[in-house]
Amino acid sequence: MKPNKRSRISHDNISPTVESNFDHLPDELVVSILASLSSSANTPADLAGAMMTDRRFRQLAHSKLVLKKASMGCLAVRAKNWSEAADRFLQRCADAGNLEASYILGMIRFYCARSRRTGAALIVSAANGGHLEAIFSLAVIQFNGSGVSKQDRDLTLGAGLCARAARLGHVDATRELGHCLLDGYGVTSAPINGRLLLQRAKQRDAENERQQASLGTLHQKTHHANTFLSEWFSQTPEARNAAHCSDKSPIEEIGDMRLCSNALCGRQETRLHEFRRCSACASAYYCSRACQAADWKMGHRTSCMPRNQEINPHGNQNHVQEGQPE
Ligand SMILES: [Zn+2]
Ligand SMILES: [Zn+2]
Repeated sequence: MKPNKRSRISHDNISPTVESNFDHLPDELVVSILASLSSSANTPADLAGAMMTDRRFRQLAHSKLVLKKASMGCLAVRAKNWSEAADRFLQRCADAGNLEASYILGMIRFYCARSRRTGAALIVSAANGGHLEAIFSLAVIQFNGSGVSKQDRDLTLGAGLCARAARLGHVDATRELGHCLLDGYGVTSAPINGRLLLQRAKQRDAENERQQASLGTLHQKTHHANTFLSEWFSQTPEARNAAHCSDKSPIEEIGDMRLCSNALCGRQETRLHEFRRCSACASAYYCSRACQAADWKMGHRTSCMPRNQEINPHGNQNHVQEGQPE
């Protein structure tokens, strides 16, 4: 069969025509087209491809509007592809007011590159813009005293950040605040209110699960920052240093730094013995009680083996009643 004439036209043949058509468009219109592309991009390559069209496209693709609107897909650089150029791109997006870029780059700098100060500043900037994950991540940092010493933890500030994120509907923050109120951690103890918040978090989880089931989505939605962290720490130290900016000193490896046992979290301790451990089995470690509750649901409930199971066959019940995961 004779091939369709259109299908035989190569990209090389089309490109000059497309470029010449765009040549006649004013910059504002091209920026608006590029902003639409960046806001709907599924991968970073979508915008990068447009940038490679020519010099004018590259310049216009760096305009504030295009970078501010860059979608999560556009910002979702994989850990194995991390580079100085990727860091610069996210920084430009963050400077343009893109809150997702601020948060993702902040988390990468804070946990992966160990640039705690610039990382925290970016997360704060996203949180100040109302980014819920950023507000909750700051709470985790405050509760753990991440990047500083244990004595410098600010539990009151952590609980305050949780309250702010919970008010705006963040489920993990609602759960964390519930536990804080139950045991007076960073706040005045108020067990009744704590239980109400834990109940609310549970209801929201059930609603989200029903919604996911109705949409046919089987997997729990994970923020890209967490996916990046998980991927980053699953690489060898050599690969991590190769991806780290070449003009910077290598990332110092500190032995026995633990990863959060919630596989969807990705956070690594910033100092030894930072994360809380499962009080029953003492073999799982968590950055937050939200992660402990999530991991409990995802399977730790069946693998958690209490240390004193030989003398206490109902050890797991105690563990649940201790109120870490509901
Ligand atoms: Zn975690
Ligand atoms: Zn356990």
